[in-house]
Amino acid sequence: MIFNAKCSKIILSEVLDMDKQLYPIEPAEFVIDSKESVEGGLQYKLSFAMSDQKCPFCDSSDIVKNGTRNKYIRDLPEFGQNVGLEVKMQRYLCNECGDQWTQESKSIFEQYKMTTRLYDYISKESLSKPFKQIADDLSLSPATIRNAFTEYVSELEKKL
Ligand SMILES: [Zn+2]
Repeated sequence: MIFNAKCSKIILSEVLDMDKQLYPIEPAEFVIDSKESVEGGLQYKLSFAMSDQKCPFCDSSDIVKNGTRNKYIRDLPEFGQNVGLEVKMQRYLCNECGDQWTQESKSIFEQYKMTTRLYDYISKESLSKPFKQIADDLSLSPATIRNAFTEYVSELEKKL
């Protein structure tokens, strides 16, 4: 039951082309391409504010853009509305060594298809609220909440 902005009906679409604003997340790595009100919440389309300058395998600067793929993730609610992000992930090809890679985000928790700050929020909420309630509040599945919490606890145990 993940909030799927891809399939939601667009109610209001705002295209922010000129002077792209940074999406308010730390690190500030994305700009907002558009913002839409959709059934179930808000959807932002984001792309990377800065591009990689070097190949992570051979350190060469002789790289070219090699297509994009969209990633759909969830973020913290904004003014009580659920937030979905469509992030345009840039792919690169190195002319030197021929390797390919996708630009990495520091604020996305790949495994859970959410931002790291949403993961942190869920982890902390889980200490005092039932999974079901958090799941309902965020329109996420209870399994997602439970898995995130289990991971959070095992991280805490490692620190002990
Ligand atoms: Zn390379």
